[in-house]
Amino acid sequence: MKKQNRGIVLQPNEMPDKWYNIAADLGGKMLPPLHPGTLKPLDAVSMSALFPDALIAQEMSGERYIKIPDEVMDLYSMFRPSPLYRAVNLEKMLDTPAKIYYKYEGVSPSGSHKTNTAIPQAFYNKMEGVKKIATETGAGQWGSALSFACNHFGIDLQVFMVKVSFDQKPYRKMLMNLWNGKVEASPSMTTQAGRDILSRQPDSPGSLGIAISEAIEMAVSDPSTKYALGSVLNHVLLHQTIIGLEAEKQFAKTDDYPDIVIGCFGGGSNFAGISFPFVRHHLDGKKKTRFIAVEPSSCPKLTKGIFRYDFGDVAGMTPLLPMHTLGHDFIPPGIHAGGLRYHGAAPLVSTLVNEGIVEAQAYDQLVCFEAGLKFAQAEGILPAPETTHAIAAVIKEALIAKAEKTEKTILFNLSGHGYFDMYAYQQYFDNKLTNFIFDDAQLKNIDKQTFPIELAFQ
Ligand SMILES: *Cc1c(COP(=O)(O)O)cnc(C)c1O
Repeated sequence: MKKQNRGIVLQPNEMPDKWYNIAADLGGKMLPPLHPGTLKPLDAVSMSALFPDALIAQEMSGERYIKIPDEVMDLYSMFRPSPLYRAVNLEKMLDTPAKIYYKYEGVSPSGSHKTNTAIPQAFYNKMEGVKKIATETGAGQWGSALSFACNHFGIDLQVFMVKVSFDQKPYRKMLMNLWNGKVEASPSMTTQAGRDILSRQPDSPGSLGIAISEAIEMAVSDPSTKYALGSVLNHVLLHQTIIGLEAEKQFAKTDDYPDIVIGCFGGGSNFAGISFPFVRHHLDGKKKTRFIAVEPSSCPKLTKGIFRYDFGDVAGMTPLLPMHTLGHDFIPPGIHAGGLRYHGAAPLVSTLVNEGIVEAQAYDQLVCFEAGLKFAQAEGILPAPETTHAIAAVIKEALIAKAEKTEKTILFNLSGHGYFDMYAYQQYFDNKLTNFIFDDAQLKNIDKQTFPIELAFQ
């Protein structure tokens, strides 16, 4: 029997010790975030109510590589370097000549890539004496990752968990609780933002945009509380590049290099994490690779949204970010991939989409669950509903390779496992899940809510 090399591991001492900051390689293409009051580029001082100085510096940094602190390296070593696997069984199942590799981020304590940024965010807050952090969470992946990290560093954490996910995923709430995170369903009665929404819509399913408003309100109304975000911002994407930097070293141990890199897309952090280190070689012309960000067709900011300045939250409390958006009022339907229910897209990824470097695809919920199930049956690991979106695209590309008889190498990020999402799979088996059709008429609202890009240059 021919021996297949399924797992490519790195030794602990091979773990990269710097994150890659793609902003350094985008030249003048990045637009600045704007202060919502003055509509002028945001300065570090106005961000300091929300974030510790070290994270603000990373947010605005033009350095190509940023050293990972020793304390963070030490905690990373609990679960990193993470394995890179060749999905040999899935290749056979699809009868494709494509080689499919995946980086498995489900090995982290809370089961997703979110821990890669939760640890440094909690660490930098701790270094600057922060006692409490407020944050949002969708499916609970970010809330549980940050609970783990805050508990380690002795920081109190308040999590606003999107209502529909709060009801769908009780075990993630328990996971947060056992790491001493406090959790409330959002919209809540605790904040003005929450009360406003509930008075208009008492049965609101919530959204990441609403939960962000609640967490920010809590942070700005208490000087000892800071805010943390699990995606979208430059520093969050920066921390996630550890994924792709490791994958690059793992590929160096094979004869392969990815022709296509695929990640699911909520706010953009796991996609950025797996892809940016490879985008770097694409930008400098050394390699040619396709990059595919995959979103739910019910929340299609990259494939249908427009590139404008918009708020990151529903109440309009965040800076204005240059991004692909469906409008900050957009409340996505209650799909089970709670982590992808976000109206906007990371400015760094939006810029790469504008440059034609990153492509976007959108898939319906049912196609994604079917793909996730195929993967679980072939490879054994049950993917999170978010991750199934990436897998749907992987399967499509692998079948194209089969039709074209080309031996493509495909890499995707298995951003998290789905063992806390059993209820979603149960619903799928019981035929209770439906697709949600995005109504293009909703795009008309975008114009009323967003700001034209020219603003930055006035
Ligand atoms: C949060 C999450 C996502 C989506 O968020 P990004 O910011 O786009 O990475 C994807 N997969 C999993 C498992 C998640 O927890």
